[in-house]
Amino acid sequence: MKRRTVLSRAGGVVGIAVAGSVPATGDSRGSPVATRDTYTLLDGTNHATEVVVIEGAQSGPTALVTGGIHGDEISGYRAAETVSGWDIAQGTLVVIPRANTIAIERGTREGTGGDLNRLFPPGDEPASALAQALWGAIERHDPDVYIDLHRSLGIYNVQPGYVGQAIFPTAAGPAVEHAQAVADILNDEKVPWYMPLHKYRAGDPMPESGPLIANKVGQDRDTPAYIVESTSFLLDLDTRTDWTTRAADALLARHGIERTGGR
Ligand SMILES: [Zn+2]
Repeated sequence: MKRRTVLSRAGGVVGIAVAGSVPATGDSRGSPVATRDTYTLLDGTNHATEVVVIEGAQSGPTALVTGGIHGDEISGYRAAETVSGWDIAQGTLVVIPRANTIAIERGTREGTGGDLNRLFPPGDEPASALAQALWGAIERHDPDVYIDLHRSLGIYNVQPGYVGQAIFPTAAGPAVEHAQAVADILNDEKVPWYMPLHKYRAGDPMPESGPLIANKVGQDRDTPAYIVESTSFLLDLDTRTDWTTRAADALLARHGIERTGGR
């Protein structure tokens, strides 16, 4: 018989109206299960977007994962949606699968207010209401690692100007080392030998002043953060979604968050 021990979240995250708290899928070994809460950022506006908070049965680090910062990067937000369905053994996994709701609905890179991933100047206030709300979620959950899932149109260092098949770390903590380790995992497990151009690599650490959300996490909070860029060049949507999802899984594992199940 399956025993379910649901950990109370004691009212959820302070200062947030928790929309629902349900036990995540239990496992068959009778161990305590994770819990899953959701709440909505910018509720009641056309930027409204769901935040999923998964708590492992044991205490541990906190990770925050986003998809859909760019609304036309389907593999990024599909991967984030998959991550939001996972159970974890320990720590806290916060996922904002569809960060830029308007852009996703329009199928465009930008929603309103310009390119969302250029509105996070290190050392300064985020430059739109949505950017401020996303940054507020980062400050509230205080993650030990941040992962932002994207899609590129081409390949880094092969097609000028494109960033695909790279994992860009911040300079904080062990991010550079972990980015390379996860690139190696993806190349071993996912990228076929006959697609050498599609091998993942660790990109250069983000430049100090870059106004990207991941970079602001690295610069302002001295926290490891990553941008995962999987390319649509000769890769179908399901494949690049799968590879992006695996990158998130491997990065979380490198930061001590072990996935135990989920859809
Ligand atoms: Zn992007």
